Amino acid sequence: MYQTRLEEILNKMKAYGRILLFRHFRPDGDAIGSTKGLQEILRLTYPEKEVYLINDDASDYLAFLGTEDKPVKSELPDEFFAEALGIVLDTGTTNRISSKKYALCKELIKIDHHIELEPYGNCSWVEDERSSACEMVVKFYDTFRDELKINKEAATYLYTGMVTDSGRFRFSCVKGETMRLAGLLLDQGIDTDVLFANLYLEEFDHLKFKAHVYDTMKITEHGVAYLYLDRETQEKFHLSLEDASASISYLDSIKGCLYWIAFIETGDESKSIRVRLRSRFSPINALAEQYRGGGHACACGATVYSTEEAMELVGKADVMLKEYKETHEGWL
Ligand code: AMP
Repeated sequence: MYQTRLEEILNKMKAYGRILLFRHFRPDGDAIGSTKGLQEILRLTYPEKEVYLINDDASDYLAFLGTEDKPVKSELPDEFFAEALGIVLDTGTTNRISSKKYALCKELIKIDHHIELEPYGNCSWVEDERSSACEMVVKFYDTFRDELKINKEAATYLYTGMVTDSGRFRFSCVKGETMRLAGLLLDQGIDTDVLFANLYLEEFDHLKFKAHVYDTMKITEHGVAYLYLDRETQEKFHLSLEDASASISYLDSIKGCLYWIAFIETGDESKSIRVRLRSRFSPINALAEQYRGGGHACACGATVYSTEEAMELVGKADVMLKEYKETHEGWL
């Protein structure tokens, strides 16, 4: 069954002359790594095929991995899409796909590791126990090693996605197979010194922003750590939306705070506030789903539209955490 699904995907890739790769908007390392990694594998293996990334929101996140490779915009004529196979990676729901034109593709494949809320596409390969979509691409490569080609560049894209989406191989979704597949990538000669220097080094000004985060964040009675970043603060520290959003990780190591949440004003017309929710031991995705969101059990996202709604969400998180702490032992 499993093997048949993967063979079905490979056969579709072989059958099309044009393959378009989509990811979710506001990409993270996994979205970028999985699309660019798969693009490289397909280009190496099938040089005669057209393989493009279709992203309307070019991102400079992880720019050290290379440019966005001239993403083809969705202004291209509809016929361009009509003859193509679309592959959407790392994207649970259609409203988050990086271009609306995915719907015009002749056939669509979904490859994803999020909890499945909305099945879509003609062929869907979803494994929510996988640590990343990149891990799935490597699994795919490994399954068809005799057919597919890989190189250092593809391996670096995929390894970066695996490293970043698994908390540096720290999360519980990391299994023995995750490490075996990562090992296969390392064998391609990835320069991990350069990779980790790019992932870890920080501008001094950014450390000052971190200090501001610890100064202004709050902790509820039962241990929900939360942070609200308005536009003014983002401007004061010259933060891009992605920089501001990354602040969620600064709250992740506080003893007793099993839930941590960041609210980031996006500055868009609808006054939407991006919510990033994380938790340890106790899943928090049910709360995200109450506020137009979803994702993984302990790492998810949502959207609210006012500070009142944000505080309501925090209040509910506090109740959930109180219940969890009262009924469980051994948490930290
Ligand atoms: P983020 O905080 O944006 O990194 O999101 C954490 C996880 O939840 C990611 O895997 C996202 O794909 C998913 N996610 C974030 N926002 C949403 C949303 N509004 N709806 C569904 N899934 C989401």
